[in-house]
Amino acid sequence: MAKSFTDLLRVPDTLVDLAKVPADAHPGVKSKKDAGQAMPKLGERLADLQEQLFAQARGGTRPGHASVLLVLQGMDTSGKGGTVKHVTGVMDPGGLRITSFKAPTEEELTHDFLWRIRKALPAAGQVGVFDRSHYEDVLVVRVRNLVPREQWEPRYGLINEFEQELADLGTTVVKCFLHISRDEQKERLLARLADPTKLWKYNPGDVDERKLWPAYQEAYAAALNLTSTATAPWFVIPADRKWYRNFAITQLLIETLERVNPQWPPPDYDVAKEKKRVLES
Ligand code: AMP
Ligand code: MG
Repeated sequence: MAKSFTDLLRVPDTLVDLAKVPADAHPGVKSKKDAGQAMPKLGERLADLQEQLFAQARGGTRPGHASVLLVLQGMDTSGKGGTVKHVTGVMDPGGLRITSFKAPTEEELTHDFLWRIRKALPAAGQVGVFDRSHYEDVLVVRVRNLVPREQWEPRYGLINEFEQELADLGTTVVKCFLHISRDEQKERLLARLADPTKLWKYNPGDVDERKLWPAYQEAYAAALNLTSTATAPWFVIPADRKWYRNFAITQLLIETLERVNPQWPPPDYDVAKEKKRVLES
């Protein structure tokens, strides 16, 4: 049997150097054409599973409260926004909760780093999507020394405890690192500058972050190593090819939802009796 994407993409136990992980690979599918042909059916499957998750939390006498949280992390231009658009575009917006995390506000900074995260968690039956996340507090914060080491270092453990708590309460967390190469990022930044419809996506600050590429790769490797747990594993998504990124994350979400295995809720009324009432009305 073909390996699942969950197995193919889960971060290896011994990951140290992200530069050794090819960003243009496409494990699990032969070509762009094959992926493209499979996508319509996969989109339908994903939409059906999402509806079932949503229905399970709404109907019946004892609603289930499972939810799913997709965490997207990656360097600028790695495709976090594109993933939100293409992968979640097939889902019912009513069952989606999408949050993108920017630099914390004055108010957010007066609280612990998980405060704003907790407020953005998916409700029962929802698929939550984080475009950036609590991981920024061990990524940009670590690379740029925004707080001293004594403050960011304990966060790896705090994140593991937090995600364990989420799992215990019914939220399955799917963490995707969108892995692009430094060359590909350069191409994408130049493409933004060359297209009047993409200028709005360009941020001069992205070049300053780019200059810290090795420090970021090191911080990402540390995060992947220290917070990939059995309950909330990290997946490394080769993301130089947009088609593969969308295909792989769609597959991961389908496999995750299949494991969550939501059930259509039983009605809390008598179907036969209701049918009779409708016919007679
Ligand atoms: P973008 O996702 O391109 O709109 O940019 C959002 C910016 O917010 C990025 O430069 C992030 O590094 C920054 N950011 C997000 N979360 C945090 C955080 N917890 N602390 C500092 N900066 C953050
Ligand atoms: Mg940006």
